[in-house]
Amino acid sequence: MNKILADYDINELLGLLCGQPKYIAKQILSFCARGADIDGMTSLPKKLRDELKLEFFEKPLYKAEIFNSKDGSAKFLFKLNDGNLIESVFLPNNYGNTVCVSSQVGCRMGCAFCASGMDGLARNLSAGEMLSQVALINSHFGGSLKERAVSNIVMMGSGEPLDNYDNTLKFVNLISSPDGLNVSERNISVSTSGLCDGIVKLAESGHNVTLSISLHAPNDDIRKQIMPIAKRYTVKEVVGSAKYYFEKTGRRVIFEYSLIKGVNDSLECAKELSELLKGFPLHVNLINLNPVKDAGLKPSGKDRAGLFLAELEKKNVSATFRRSLGSDIEGACGQLKRKYLKEVSHDH
Ligand code: SAH
Ligand code: SF4
Repeated sequence: MNKILADYDINELLGLLCGQPKYIAKQILSFCARGADIDGMTSLPKKLRDELKLEFFEKPLYKAEIFNSKDGSAKFLFKLNDGNLIESVFLPNNYGNTVCVSSQVGCRMGCAFCASGMDGLARNLSAGEMLSQVALINSHFGGSLKERAVSNIVMMGSGEPLDNYDNTLKFVNLISSPDGLNVSERNISVSTSGLCDGIVKLAESGHNVTLSISLHAPNDDIRKQIMPIAKRYTVKEVVGSAKYYFEKTGRRVIFEYSLIKGVNDSLECAKELSELLKGFPLHVNLINLNPVKDAGLKPSGKDRAGLFLAELEKKNVSATFRRSLGSDIEGACGQLKRKYLKEVSHDH
């Protein structure tokens, strides 16, 4: 089985290259952070490149398709070496650009509103496969290692990062490495559907990433209707682990809340949510549901969403509506890949 060079950190590279000087290992790290293939690592001796090619894939992933939105965002469909497809999104902001990274092919959490989970989990992504999404998008938009076109990373593509904990942490290490893209942990958000054990582990890991928790409901009854993970952890446990994360890291936790018509968008829900979340620094990101075909769920109306936000503000819960970019290129997680797969299978 071929391996992926971008999966290796500096110590592993030194072990692999036994006897080679450290600067060679550093060069490989920086090539990987630029998304180079092995043939493109031109400053390495030809003999070493040939040896590497015997053991490693030429490249961790390939650009299969790019969809540019009118608003400046772009969705990338990447093909992995085993033929699987994943997607990443480039989101321009006035404070710097964000890349939304996938952590798994599919997802096994099965949330009712999410396209990524509809076919279950195919496999975990390796750290290098996550890194390469950012590396290729950064180079695509003319960024280098010194002057990056990407300043922020959100792990909000397909997959549940904390269900792929070790590779996610390794990705954070690789992408924040000074020999690589050098993205500060403060600019990396790990988004989870609320795997409390993973949150506690992350809190104790000594890392300092931003934690986003997809809550989407103020109580267990509603959460169970839309998120199977709610059968494993109660909302109280989820909020408890968020508090713990804050205590350990000093980082304000973000709660994601997608408004779904008639499910979680009532004034009563907003009241219950503010009651649940009071007492520690946090922020609620409201977004309107991106309707996914076959899920039968609808976004909340503008008026209702406005009332929901106003109620949170009234209760002094810090909350904002998140901008929804890329609606013309199928913005919601997992949508593009499904559409692409359908079109490809129509063609054949
Ligand atoms: N598995 C992780 C990260 C990937 S999903 C998680 O669930 O947090 C990224 C975010 O998109 C999550 O907040 C998720 O709840 C949200 N999401 C998924 N499908 C959506 C949809 N159709 N409409 C709105 N938000 C959606
Ligand atoms: Fe998985 Fe997140 Fe989608 Fe739920 S919302 S199915 S956890 S990717």
